[in-house]
Amino acid sequence: MPLRICYLSAEYSPFSKSGGLGDVAAALTNHLAASGHDVRTFVPLHSQSQLDGSDIRAVDFLQNLTLQCGTRTFAYSVSTARAFGSRSWIYLVDCPELFERPRIYTDAPDEHVRFLMLTRAALECCQRMAFAPDIVHCNDWHTAFAPLLLKTAYAWDSQVFGRTRSVFTIHNIGYQGVFSAAAAADIGPGVPASALHAIDLAAGRVNPMRHAVMYADAITTVSPTYAQEIRSPIGGHGLDADLRARGTAVSGILNGIDIDTWDPARDAYLPHRYDIHDLAGKALDKAALMDLLRLQGPPSIPLLGIITRLARQKGIDLLFDVLPALLGSNRARFVALGSGEQNYEAFLRGLQQRFPGRAVYHGGYSEELAHFIEGAADMFLMPSLYEPCGLNQMYSLRYGTVPVVRRTGGLADSVQHFDPATGAGTGVVFNDFNADGLRWGLTTALEWYAQPALWHRLRTNGMRVDFSWTRSGADYVRLYEHLASSA
Ligand code: ADP
Repeated sequence: MPLRICYLSAEYSPFSKSGGLGDVAAALTNHLAASGHDVRTFVPLHSQSQLDGSDIRAVDFLQNLTLQCGTRTFAYSVSTARAFGSRSWIYLVDCPELFERPRIYTDAPDEHVRFLMLTRAALECCQRMAFAPDIVHCNDWHTAFAPLLLKTAYAWDSQVFGRTRSVFTIHNIGYQGVFSAAAAADIGPGVPASALHAIDLAAGRVNPMRHAVMYADAITTVSPTYAQEIRSPIGGHGLDADLRARGTAVSGILNGIDIDTWDPARDAYLPHRYDIHDLAGKALDKAALMDLLRLQGPPSIPLLGIITRLARQKGIDLLFDVLPALLGSNRARFVALGSGEQNYEAFLRGLQQRFPGRAVYHGGYSEELAHFIEGAADMFLMPSLYEPCGLNQMYSLRYGTVPVVRRTGGLADSVQHFDPATGAGTGVVFNDFNADGLRWGLTTALEWYAQPALWHRLRTNGMRVDFSWTRSGADYVRLYEHLASSA
């Protein structure tokens, strides 16, 4: 039976993306639409949205609308768009007052209002379209008030929402969107203060993510291991008790990847394409990237890559001790792509200055370079402190680029430590979040790299793994169906 799904996300690739959420929102909704479900995805029309090549149409009955959030009233209009190559329609919520900002995410005092407006607009558009969703699927703190709004402000509309069940997915519990209790009225109208988390309110704050954990009919996160980790005090970032209280309503579904966009045999960003049967193109990509970035050294020198937000979560601190020694002893070349916290950017810039021809740092965001690095590198580093799922290790596996990862969250669920004795395994997995752990991981990877037959086995093992959305998409559909059947 086709399901009616209203999907809410702060970002949607390729229109708008700052990290994995944009990729997952697009890939999952496309998969669901291709499987015959009626999916309506609501995202903000951020001023940064890349709309080239997409087919955008204003929805005539969703123009010049108004919506109240707290004491403010916002004007908005909605267009539908179909991204190039995508199968599902997206509803872009155009509210210039809130979404014409220098970045997708800001630290402005009305940050919570921006996404509350998106959430309310999505529910009101469902009403205006007479679209009665079986499932409202919201994601991360931005749209986390949807389950509460469904149970309060919009509960009167039983015709549209009477059978709706809500799913909340935690992509990263490290960002909960906390704002001051002085702004609690912004969640209204129609939400009584008694529905808000009383202890937080008394402490002067409102935590959007906590309200989704309290009110969603099901809570998922993006890998089974992370689903365990967030229920523990260390991984729960203050929400572990709330999650434990929800019992079996919490589960983990490993993300898939978009295997059309990330395919070394078809990747338009790669100068040379390749596949598991012929890796010659990968060697040529490596030579081309080293040439482009002016990295020097023989073709045999291993090239390490990293593409990441530069945040503490990503384990950049571990590189401080390990990389200078590795580059100083001339055992590897290194390319980093990413932006974020200043001290990490300064470290990477410093590395490039200290080791010219051996290390390159490219700041900022580049889809093109991200693909090129995945295609060209021999190894990919993800020494994360925590990693809800992680996508780059899966892209790396598909591109024959051996991931060197720490055993946490989705990295533990998607990379299997290689065993040279049996030839089984797909990468290098180290346990301890410290420099010795990473050093061990890299030394192990370099040892295996020096044995071409072993290395070939390791990288082709990874290329064979299926990370398409077929498996994870089916898990979501099972969950939706289970919830819908209880409605
Ligand atoms: P997170 O969502 O925590 O940032 P993920 O590994 O789940 O981490 O997803 C990161 C996604 O963002 C990947 O698709 C990665 O390639 C991409 N990415 C991160 N930084 C950059 C960058 N500077 N340029 C291009 N892509 C980037």
